[in-house]
Amino acid sequence: MLLRTIALASTCLFLACQQPQKPEESAPVELDSEVSAALERLSEEFRREVYEVTDGVYQAVGFGIANSIMVEGDECVFIVDVMGSMESAAEVKAEFGKITQKPIGALIYTHNHADHVMGGLAFAPDGKVDVYAHDTTNYYINRMANVLRPVLRRRSARMFGSYLRTPGPDRMDNVGLGPFVETLDPDMTLGLIRPNKTFSDQLETEICGVKTELVHAPGETNDQLFVWLPERGVLLPGDNIYKAFPNLYSIRGTLYRDVLAWAYSIDKMRALRPTHLVPSHTRAISGEKQVYETLTAYRDAIQFVHDQTIRGINQGLTPDELVEVVKLPPHLAEHPFLQEVYGKVEWSVRGVFNGYLGWFDGDGAALEPANPDRRAEGMASLAGGEEGLARAARRAVDQEQYEWAAELATHLIRLDPSSAKAKQIKADALRALGRRQLNANARNYYLTQALELEGKVEIRDHTRPENALSFVATVPIGRFVAAMPANLIYEKSANKDMLVGFRFPDVDEGYGIHIRRGVAEFKESFPKNPDLTITADSAVWRELVLGLRNPVKAFASGDVRFDGSALDLVGFLRLFKPAVDRPWH
Ligand SMILES: [Zn+2]
Repeated sequence: MLLRTIALASTCLFLACQQPQKPEESAPVELDSEVSAALERLSEEFRREVYEVTDGVYQAVGFGIANSIMVEGDECVFIVDVMGSMESAAEVKAEFGKITQKPIGALIYTHNHADHVMGGLAFAPDGKVDVYAHDTTNYYINRMANVLRPVLRRRSARMFGSYLRTPGPDRMDNVGLGPFVETLDPDMTLGLIRPNKTFSDQLETEICGVKTELVHAPGETNDQLFVWLPERGVLLPGDNIYKAFPNLYSIRGTLYRDVLAWAYSIDKMRALRPTHLVPSHTRAISGEKQVYETLTAYRDAIQFVHDQTIRGINQGLTPDELVEVVKLPPHLAEHPFLQEVYGKVEWSVRGVFNGYLGWFDGDGAALEPANPDRRAEGMASLAGGEEGLARAARRAVDQEQYEWAAELATHLIRLDPSSAKAKQIKADALRALGRRQLNANARNYYLTQALELEGKVEIRDHTRPENALSFVATVPIGRFVAAMPANLIYEKSANKDMLVGFRFPDVDEGYGIHIRRGVAEFKESFPKNPDLTITADSAVWRELVLGLRNPVKAFASGDVRFDGSALDLVGFLRLFKPAVDRPWH
């Protein structure tokens, strides 16, 4: 199964997708009662419903993490954001169908995230429909086929609580912006239709007889747009505003989000003085005054966090110090749209620091710190040995100093990775942190990691590749070759020098990989005089990459051919391996 191995190594298909294996049992833990009541109120906001915001504008809430919005014109309707899967989109479409039978004239994607784009084929089964998006949305959709998939999958599963029980002691109440993330369910099918009507700054058009303006509005993503319906005073802001403090940094791991650009994008929306604000997560609000006030508070909160972080940075504060001093002023902290149920000020401050200055906090002591083993040994020595350290960690739990307890327990696990006692202390600390959290991302992350430490949950990839074909089939074949270098096992290639060409005759494309002593250089075109050439149709290669085709049979049947020595072929394929999940502490 060498080819399968390389295949899995060289691809990363879409964001997290694993079977939530719910724990059989877990330590009884009650949510803090105040948190519990607030969570129930929040979950109530995500109850499944399609309702009319204003004449001819319908918002579907609660069918997945994101909303889908239908705008009705004279002859047809158009859909803004199409859910994250065929299944959730079909449910929404059925509800929309009860309102009107008018045909669907167009789709609009506010941005590239999977929960907004993967259900398109449910709305337009033949795929022949105008799809509006920003010029760069296709590029970012391709990036979902990402070399970081293993780690993003793991962190997303924790953050969205897809392994938590509902209901149950370690329960998943909601994901902060909606009831659950449907793209994490391996039974869900992707039905992507690529954007085919794109623009760079602004597009004024008429869709189904409705005057429609699309405006590029970088913020939560670089390709974000908002939709303005001037005749109806309706603004659809995508993900640049929702009823939660904005996710200026996402703990699943993201590139730096340009927070000032985000605030300025909201200023473009304020200038329009909308009467209705219909976001792609959480419910709409109406009333010119209320919408303006909400947009203003939102952009002010973003700018406040940015500016005060910069001010602190210039005073020489480190991220750990900055999070203690950058706090929203009361009028913003209390605003209903700025509650920290999804994004968090603290994470945002760290994100801004990192975006401007990178990882080094400026203190020489942090420049080349003691390695984790030395630090753990040092802590144990200060505590009078491992037993003393364990007692201190347990005492910290008892005294409700959970962050400190988790830190001490991390050192204990470092000293003895098999210690169930140390892992239990850390699990107890993380669970206690989780149950105090109204923030969905933090709560789900803490509770999931506690279960992992107890050995009750193991996050695995249960992707059903065939469910992703509609997406994978549209990713340029070269990206799969380009993804190979980051999976090179450099130790095995330390003394190798080998040039391999790839030919995909059906699309008339060729690529190369030059293995050069620990580095695999990707070549954008077919190389001259390769040592080995692999030839296959792009569809065949995709199926191999997905594991849908047996590689031995593919070579035996001639669907995949090679020129060169069989020994070289095997040797080459052995150099690549899927990223191994590193045991974590
Ligand atoms: Zn979203």
